[in-house]
Amino acid sequence: MQKIGILGGGQLGRMLLQAAANYPVQTFVLENDEQCPAAHLCHHFTKGDIKDFDAVYNFGKNLHAITIEIENVNVEALEKLETEGVKVFPKPAVLRTIRNKILQKQYYQQHSIPSPEFIITDSLAELQQQQSFLPAVHKIGQGGYDGKGVQLLNTKEELAKGFDAPSVLEKMVNIHKEIAQMVAINANGETALYPPVEMLFDPTLNLLDYQLCPAELDMKTLWKVEAITLAVVRNFNSPGIFAVEMFVDKNGEVLVNETAPRVHNSGHHTIEAHYCSQFDMLWRIMLGYPLGNTDAILPSIMVNIIGADGHSGDVKYEGLEEVLKIENAFVHLYGKKQTKPGRKMGHVTILSQEKQELLHQSNKVKRTLLAKT
Ligand code: ADP
Repeated sequence: MQKIGILGGGQLGRMLLQAAANYPVQTFVLENDEQCPAAHLCHHFTKGDIKDFDAVYNFGKNLHAITIEIENVNVEALEKLETEGVKVFPKPAVLRTIRNKILQKQYYQQHSIPSPEFIITDSLAELQQQQSFLPAVHKIGQGGYDGKGVQLLNTKEELAKGFDAPSVLEKMVNIHKEIAQMVAINANGETALYPPVEMLFDPTLNLLDYQLCPAELDMKTLWKVEAITLAVVRNFNSPGIFAVEMFVDKNGEVLVNETAPRVHNSGHHTIEAHYCSQFDMLWRIMLGYPLGNTDAILPSIMVNIIGADGHSGDVKYEGLEEVLKIENAFVHLYGKKQTKPGRKMGHVTILSQEKQELLHQSNKVKRTLLAKT
């Protein structure tokens, strides 16, 4: 039986393991927190730091394959494992490109993939010279996550809020829609596209709030989106699953914001709303099975359940029974013991043929199911 490891034990690892239960595979997780969401669902849990060379190397050396649920891992160890014959999804070279926003932007440029215009700034002093590039968005090269490495800079006074580290300064896009498309690619280079999803963000926390599938796009825009997504993954030359996040601007142009080379928040709804979920798909790819069917069974909306403001500590869920009464609402709680404001605690997917019904029920879920203490 194949032995496959996951670096990171958060909710993505947890849902990946739920799907693994259907396949002949022995699962391993490396994570520092023994109480993490994935700890109790894998066959073998190893406590260790995914950013540490020795921890990752020793974890991976007896495995057939290894994957990630977060980009911030020790890439050097993955490279060594790869040379020793361990299959790594995605390839470490891709991880190197993606986890540094400067290299990621240069990748899009080299492959003529449309993405917002940018320059590189190495320090705050250098950023101060770039008044004429405003309004813009400053993005730290390495280490940003969930909006924490991103600053919107509208005026020259705001330049002081930028990062004093190698960063990307990107032209502010006049956003009409934020969308994302999941795509799977196997070892033979065959691809399977999921329909794009459309996102709405919580303006204060910068976290994904609601996500509608399929995104409402005209045919021409949809074709552009699909062509761009395929161009992004084809040039990586790596099997795996990817989420390509894009902006559709007010002129109908499609621009890549960023890519995640792994299972992703924007594919959670595929568990119930699609024939083959993103998690199932990644196992198929890693185990060398045929790609699954990405078609939607029904349109869906996904709501993230995030820790309520003013509540930090042992979590108690309010409104769970009420939400479980909603027809075609599927609740996922991630098993995190502690909540804090803005922490992703779970999600709910709602299926319906009717968009009005999806909007109505997702608002209800958002108001009713609360992660408090
Ligand atoms: P993270 O990787 O931390 O999630 P993103 O690069 O996705 O950061 O940026 C977070 C949010 O900032 C985006 O979802 C978008 O709303 C806004 N944003 C990012 N880049 C731009 C841009 N060039 N123009 C306008 N808004 C942007």
